[in-house]
Amino acid sequence: MVSFNFGAGPAVLPGDILEQARAEAFNWQGSGMSLFEIPFGDPTFGAVMQTAHRALQQVLNLPDSHHLLFLQGGAYAHFAFVAMNLMGDKKRACYLDTGHWSKRAIAEASKYGEIVVDRIVADGAYCHMTTNETTQGRQFHELPDSQGLPLVADMTSDILTRPIDFSHMDLVYASAQKNIAPAGLSLVIMHEKLFDRALDITPTVFNYTLQARNNSRVNTPNLFGIYMAGLMAKWVTDQGGLPEMAKRSREKSAVLYETIDHSRFFHASVNGEMRSHVNVCFGLKDPALNELFLQQAQHEGLLNLNGHSAGAPLRASLYNALPRAGVVALADFIKRFDGQLA
Ligand code: PMP
Repeated sequence: MVSFNFGAGPAVLPGDILEQARAEAFNWQGSGMSLFEIPFGDPTFGAVMQTAHRALQQVLNLPDSHHLLFLQGGAYAHFAFVAMNLMGDKKRACYLDTGHWSKRAIAEASKYGEIVVDRIVADGAYCHMTTNETTQGRQFHELPDSQGLPLVADMTSDILTRPIDFSHMDLVYASAQKNIAPAGLSLVIMHEKLFDRALDITPTVFNYTLQARNNSRVNTPNLFGIYMAGLMAKWVTDQGGLPEMAKRSREKSAVLYETIDHSRFFHASVNGEMRSHVNVCFGLKDPALNELFLQQAQHEGLLNLNGHSAGAPLRASLYNALPRAGVVALADFIKRFDGQLA
């Protein structure tokens, strides 16, 4: 049976990338070493990093002013590190609260300065947003006006799914495990105008300026994750780049929202402009039926459709590697489930 993985993360990766990684990881380009075994000081280590760096820089269309860092910790760790790196003397920042992950970002940042929520103050060090709330399925389709403050975004669940104009973005960070690579790698993209603002308490390896000046090699980075990120960037480029990814995400999510909106027994949890193109959150109007739906879906090979405990009961994550065929199969199953209840 063909199965489709709708999990929110760690999430589906393209099968051809996994095949390539299986082949290459074992004996790296005939060197007699696995990719996992290359020493930090070996020129090959730097070369693997450089290849991935170039591929990501290209696919994201990063301006020369923006530095791409390969760090560890995950976005939850960077909620704190972003504040430590950017708060500077101002000790005040503005955060947009759009749901679960922005609340967590606010809670962490509050340890390092005053956080003003849903309001811009002229003396704020920066303005923070979560471009896509993975838990609630709520996404910004236009960037907000940060009124001159540096704009900072957690793009964990929608990086690489659409073009972003980095001339309006001053810092972006993301965990890898949705659209980039396995968990254990974080990307940080930072405009150099934000360098040298870190608080003294910032750990050395999470000082973004220092990492930028040392090509993300202040300590040992996650080379396997970086290698996978490079393969993914190339895969996206080969598929037509970010405009094509955006088109596919829009089309895939439209199929599902349309099906849910037309059903008698299901409802979408977000209506209007902020509907996410990557995390479609929904549920049955009779909550007692959600579990039955999940069980039957699993039998059909439609995997990991359960929602987050802080969000809707059901969620279909439609990251880049989730094919349209999966969405068509899910829409067909929703219609059959609906018919069964009628
Ligand atoms: N931000 C967003 C938008 C997320 O979706 C997640 C994970 N689902 C996180 C932050 C936290 O990521 P991690 O667990 O890798 O730290």
